[in-house]
Amino acid sequence: MAKHGMISHSKYINIREKQLKARAQNYCSSFECSRDFGKPVTIIKCASSFSYVLQYPCTGQDEIDQRIIQIVDSIRTAFDNTYFQSQNASNYREHSADITLLLSYETYIFAVSHLSVIFFETHEQNGGASAVSKIHAYHFDLRQKEEQPSERLIYRGFRESASLYAQHFYQTAYEKNLFENHKETLSANSGLFDCFALTWKGVLFFINPNTILPDSYSLLRLIVPYENMQPSNSTPARAKISLPQTVIPQKPMVALTFDDGPNPIYTNSILDILEEYGVTATFFDVGTQMEQFPSVSQRELLLHCEVGSHSYRHDDFLKLHDSEIKKDIDRTSAVFRKVLGQEPRLFRPPYGHCDSRIKQLVRMPCIHWSLDTRDWESRNAKAIMEKIKNAGNLDGKVILMHSIYEASARATSMLIPYLTNEGYQLVTVSQLINSKLKKAEFLTFKELCSIFYLV
Ligand code: ZN
Repeated sequence: MAKHGMISHSKYINIREKQLKARAQNYCSSFECSRDFGKPVTIIKCASSFSYVLQYPCTGQDEIDQRIIQIVDSIRTAFDNTYFQSQNASNYREHSADITLLLSYETYIFAVSHLSVIFFETHEQNGGASAVSKIHAYHFDLRQKEEQPSERLIYRGFRESASLYAQHFYQTAYEKNLFENHKETLSANSGLFDCFALTWKGVLFFINPNTILPDSYSLLRLIVPYENMQPSNSTPARAKISLPQTVIPQKPMVALTFDDGPNPIYTNSILDILEEYGVTATFFDVGTQMEQFPSVSQRELLLHCEVGSHSYRHDDFLKLHDSEIKKDIDRTSAVFRKVLGQEPRLFRPPYGHCDSRIKQLVRMPCIHWSLDTRDWESRNAKAIMEKIKNAGNLDGKVILMHSIYEASARATSMLIPYLTNEGYQLVTVSQLINSKLKKAEFLTFKELCSIFYLV
């Protein structure tokens, strides 16, 4: 056993343990104020030449907790391998006395069910203070009880817009102190923007000390507001559909509708796909979401999609008094004017709950759907596709999906090439109504809407 001066081994371990506990508390406390979710579990293991402080969240959801423990294990194994690998025991004792792995975390909740867990890993030798050496980000869907790989969250333009914002931000704030190579460090493909947390304020990125600014600055946290996380207007892809598509009335057509957004991640993914194929859809946006993410609704309009109202806060109108419904409609109209510069022209009642009283109060066409993909239920792209493939002739159909789920965005990427191949035009709800109205002239606009509603 290694010698430690004049004191016995067990006494040494005792002292080490006390020191380690103090260090653990000090290390972990710096992350405590950023924990939206879960209870901390702390494991302190002290040995003569290596020690661990492992702190991680317990969410109370078995599937997620098992995965978190797996992640912590893998970080510890990697640490072991770094110091044990290809070294025999004597070498190990000689060279790496008192190596400590410190691991703590932060958690962030976003959009009700999205959980980001960020691990901060530090290796210390002989009690020497060192900076955070590695940061790991993991994402979970609390409703689905499953992990969400971060690649799925990174949409086109994500890293690029974060990089632009970061460069501008640090150049403005720290101009003189920035390292010369900061642009490289903050470039879109540096890997820095692959590790992030989704928060209510924006996407949170972490920049290690001493990478863009000198030592004296500790770990940097940068929040990029969702407003700034858009693909830039000048990308060539955007220029591709500068003109709205023309509808050919003789050709079969389908209107895709996406409810409950705007959502900065999934609505943007859906918009990326629409943009790529140069097609349009209709978004029934919720007022409170539009206030949070106005630029996402603006992008919908910019891509010639139709934006309808899905109420101010997604209340069930059947349960509201007349005056409450009127108030909701006024508030939503105000949001539409502010965000999009126009009044809403279509309304989709939350939960599809509607009756003649509501229709009279809303004074807009109430748009139901002809095919419910039940994406909110299955949260499975394949299941969504099956629903549509099994629905028979889709000409004139209004398809219901949601713009707040990853599965819906993934289904859209399969659905659009599928429908196009099958010979359908993808149109907005108003385009669909207008085209079908021309064909069936005995129907008035309102009547047609109510048919949609009853389908
Ligand atoms: Zn809804």
